[in-house]
Amino acid sequence: MIPTVRLPDGTSIPALGQGTWGMGERHGEAKAEIAALRAGMERGLTLIDTAEMYGDGGAERVVGETIAGVREHVFLVSKVYPHNASTSGVATACAASLKRLGTDRIDLYLLHWRGGYPLAETVAAFERLREAGHIRYWGVSNFDVDDMEELVEQSAGSVCATNQVLYHPDARGIEFDLMPWCRAQNMPVMAYSPLGHTGRVLRSRALASVAERHGATPAQIAIAWSMRDGTTISIPKSSTLAHVAQNAAAAEIRLTESDLREIDEAHKPPRRKQPLDML
Ligand code: NAP
Repeated sequence: MIPTVRLPDGTSIPALGQGTWGMGERHGEAKAEIAALRAGMERGLTLIDTAEMYGDGGAERVVGETIAGVREHVFLVSKVYPHNASTSGVATACAASLKRLGTDRIDLYLLHWRGGYPLAETVAAFERLREAGHIRYWGVSNFDVDDMEELVEQSAGSVCATNQVLYHPDARGIEFDLMPWCRAQNMPVMAYSPLGHTGRVLRSRALASVAERHGATPAQIAIAWSMRDGTTISIPKSSTLAHVAQNAAAAEIRLTESDLREIDEAHKPPRRKQPLDML
């Protein structure tokens, strides 16, 4: 069973999903990518995260093929480029994403990172999409606490459903301020690159030692760690069937106090404010 987290309005969504960055870039790999995403869905990884940026629309096309015929079982997340975050830009970008995804509705539409358009303009554009039924929820990505504070001051800014940010054992600065801030707003954090993107963090001795105790892999421990607080959504990406099976099974792992202490020893929690880390 994949656990769930609650959005600010109380709706439950899966706490573990699938990323798609790097998919849809090479035509010959689409079949394997679709097979991996489908295998994940069969194991309950029905939240799929994509963006207009990934593969220049290619990842959204791969997701569109993956969900054809099973759209209603998926919680679909996509993102708009900051340079498209104007009134007309958001509407045009969303229409293009919907077309590539082969659907009439994105469940959660995020501003990929903060750009030059005023937040008020982007929020109003998101709200218009929501009223028209093209998106169910909207949120942001790569926003630090000061950006979030500015966001919730905008008219309808507090409707924001999530903030998607970098989070893995070597990038845990958000524990100091951003995570508690989001928790106080009942807003789940969405942890991107929970495996560290490059795989470097997966060579951690502490993760290997905890993994051995659980009969698991370091990747599974990294995923279980990223979603351990019950309010964080983790979105590892995998195009490899064996990895997808492992990643889904990570939802069953319960880390003990001593596991967490061992990880803290090697990957220190923040003791002061750190600027938001991003890829
Ligand atoms: P990630 O999920 O941390 O790591 C992906 C890498 O880990 C791939 O090379 C993958 O290879 C490998 N992997 C997956 N499962 C594994 C396992 N069980 N054992 C060993 N290796 C495994 O990196 P990410 O793609 O950067 O982040 C995840 C998702 O977050 C992205 O795909 C994207 O949807 C989102 N994201 C958002 C932002 C943003 O700015 N909002 C930025 C970065 C990422 P295989 O494919 O071969 O399994």
